[in-house]
Parts: sequence; C-alpha cells; structure tokens
Amino acid sequence: MRRKLAAGNWKMNGTGASLSEVEALIAAHPDPKVDVLLCPPATLLERMSRLANGSAIATGGQDCHAAESGAHTGDISAPMLADAGASHVIVGHSERRDDHGETDAMVRAKAEAAHRAGLVAVICCGESLAEREGGLTLDIIGGQLAGSLPDGATGANTVVAYEPIWAIGTGKIPTTGQIGEVHDFIRAELVKRFGAEGEAIRVLYGGSVKPSNAAEIFAVANVDGALVGGASLKAADFSPIIAALEEA
Ligand code: PEP
Repeated sequence: MRRKLAAGNWKMNGTGASLSEVEALIAAHPDPKVDVLLCPPATLLERMSRLANGSAIATGGQDCHAAESGAHTGDISAPMLADAGASHVIVGHSERRDDHGETDAMVRAKAEAAHRAGLVAVICCGESLAEREGGLTLDIIGGQLAGSLPDGATGANTVVAYEPIWAIGTGKIPTTGQIGEVHDFIRAELVKRFGAEGEAIRVLYGGSVKPSNAAEIFAVANVDGALVGGASLKAADFSPIIAALEEA
C-alpha cells in the first residue's frame, strides 16, 4: 500500500556532463513501478529538473535552510528549491549533522520549512558505530525521530531514511536482521505518534546499497525503498537498484 521509493543522493558530485546519466536513467525507466528521486548538488538542480520534467524522475535538494529568505550566505531555502523544480528535500543527513553541527531541533525546523514550501522532507536518522556497539541504536533512533519529525508529518509530506552512519560509503551494511529490527521499530514509533499517517510514511534504508545487495535489503519488512549515495551516480548502478525495488 505504500508506494516504494528509490532515492539517489549525489552529494557533492556531478557537473553538467553528469546529466547524461539522468538521460540514460529516464530512457531505461520510462514507466517505473516505483517512485524515483534524484537529489543532485544545488548547482545542477534546475537543469536536472528541466531535463526530468515529464519523466517519472522527481528531483530534490540535499538540504534547505529553515528560513524562507534572508542574510544566510551560501544557504538555500525550501521555496528556492521548489522554484528550481524540486519536489523533495533531504534533511538531517548524517553528513550535515556532522559537518555542520545540525541538531534534531534544526532538522525539524528544516523539515517544517520544507512542508511550508510544499516539498516532501526526506528526514534522515541513524546511529554511529560506537552507539551500535554500545547497544544504544534504538534509543538513538527513537530520540532522533522524536526530535526531528514535525507534528504535521504525513505519508504525503514526509519520508524517513534510516542510515546507519557506519554503513554510509563504507561498503559495510547491517545484517538484514539488524535492518529489520530498526525498520520495525521506526514503523512502531511512527504509528504511536501519527496513528494511521504513521503507516503511510515511507521508511527507506540507506548505507552502501548496491545492485548486488539491493534485492536482499528490499525483501526486509518495512523497508519501503532506499536512499542511495555512491551507487546513484551512474545509471548503470542505479538502474538495477530501481529494478530490484520494482521486483520486491
Ligand atoms: C547516503 O549518504 O545517503 C548513502 C546512503 O551513501 P552510500 O550509498 O554511498 O553509502
């Protein structure tokens, strides 16, 4: 009942030449059975959005400021992302939390700004290796969800991405049992707080998803898709991940 979502996060990668990968993806997936989202760097957002207009590929930002405009050099607001053609924005990625000291309260304010601008907020959470090894994973995730999700979160305006920090870009992934435990926990927390809407909010897994492990991950209950970093940069890698999600 929840439509699956394959989301790509290009991070600080890509120039105009990389748009040929988007053309290849559009050609390979004219009518996918799942939602497909690409979040390029801000410099490519408008060009990618124009290119993908009329295709099944949606575009999103990788971050937004909590304010609509103002004296915030280098930042981009949610209405600006929408103006550039975005329908989604990632907020609270662990690289933003680490590199820029973003707290749960800041992530929540960004998600609220995204909602005000009509964007779907893809809100990330995830534990560090030390937290996992200390047996704190569910406590950390529970705290991040409570602190980062706005009260107005619904299945239409919010996606949660579970991204264990130690699995991002490392090639290490949790076991399917570990992924299932956290996704079941997130689902239960969402239903506890949001009732029926908590059932409708999609929960993605992220962290070293590749064509070779995608099917196994997508078979886990309560995994509604993936947030993919490195393997979303090339159509040859992202396309089989989309296909695996269509099969799941
Ligand atoms: C990410 O940063 O969102 C991510 C999941 O990266 P990777 O797939 O490269 O581990």
